[in-house]
Amino acid sequence: MKPQRTRRFTKVFSRIFLSEPSWILWLKICLALPLTIALANTVACTKGTSADATASPATNPESPAATPGPPAAAPTDNAPLPHIDSKRAFQYTREVTAFGPRYMGSENHKKLERYILDHLKGDQVEDDAFTADTVEGKFPVRNILVKFPGTKDGIIVILGHYDTVYPLRNSGFVGANDGGSSTAILLEFANQLRGDPNKPKPGLSGTPGKKRDGYSVWLVWTDGEEAVRKWSDTDSLYGARHLAEKWEKDGTLKKIKALMVMDMIGDADLNIDRNTNGAPWLLDLIYAAAERLGYQSHFYARQGPIEDDHIPFVKRGVPCADVIDLDYGYNNVFWHSPQDTMDKLSPKSLEIVGDTILETIHMLDQR
Ligand SMILES: [Zn+2]
Repeated sequence: MKPQRTRRFTKVFSRIFLSEPSWILWLKICLALPLTIALANTVACTKGTSADATASPATNPESPAATPGPPAAAPTDNAPLPHIDSKRAFQYTREVTAFGPRYMGSENHKKLERYILDHLKGDQVEDDAFTADTVEGKFPVRNILVKFPGTKDGIIVILGHYDTVYPLRNSGFVGANDGGSSTAILLEFANQLRGDPNKPKPGLSGTPGKKRDGYSVWLVWTDGEEAVRKWSDTDSLYGARHLAEKWEKDGTLKKIKALMVMDMIGDADLNIDRNTNGAPWLLDLIYAAAERLGYQSHFYARQGPIEDDHIPFVKRGVPCADVIDLDYGYNNVFWHSPQDTMDKLSPKSLEIVGDTILETIHMLDQR
């Protein structure tokens, strides 16, 4: 769309200015200049809201959040841009992956639960534990939650799964990206939200023990995201489905302003999909946050519907975005393969996603 538009514009421009006496030419330049600037701005502003303008997510029938939402653009402010500790986040990914396969019901899964909880000492931690009845038998499932209360009425939820693929349990699959990166980025978000009393930061990070200046932020390490046999509505998203149902009953869902899922965000060749199963305004807000940080080239080159932990919440009308790069290696060959290992990942990718999501939270706080 954009190149075509530029060509047409050039044609019109040359037709106006050919063969005129010079004073008419200058008059036309004066009249046309503001129009030129306005058109150039339109092109710049529409860039990136959709990689393929013929299939706008707003009109996608599969996008349940097609109803117009709040405007994406937030006023610019002078708050410092967020910056996660990407080395630390990468180290978490390495440690999580080193446990080996971490499928539901396994010993390594239990070790990882303890590892996550050890990093949340002193925080407001809850869990949502239950038994899932699956085609492969019964499994203990445990979503781990940590809450950072805010001064504003409403909740921003960030989800990321920590289980690995059960059917691949004997294949050497360790899920560095798929399961590892999501677990790690949430641990780093907890560090940022908790704040450091020795290094107090204005803006996003709160002071320990005090409410953050904005919405409450809840982080959820979801369990049982993966299918135990073959992906279907009933064999997948065990933890997220349970949590969505629970939050529907207790009224929590109504308080959620935005829910964002982190999945497979560590790929060194980072290209986040515009997952059209989500609220267009929230997807646009994430893009706007990435633009503020200069990271927009890593977002939305592809678009399409992807099923992930956000689906049970999308179905219940919660504004959601799934932040996922489902192009992992050429033709996605590393996905659900023993090749999903640390050497494919980069701390920079964790930084790009981490900073972008923290900036998105900040922009949500301003609304
Ligand atoms: Zn997976």
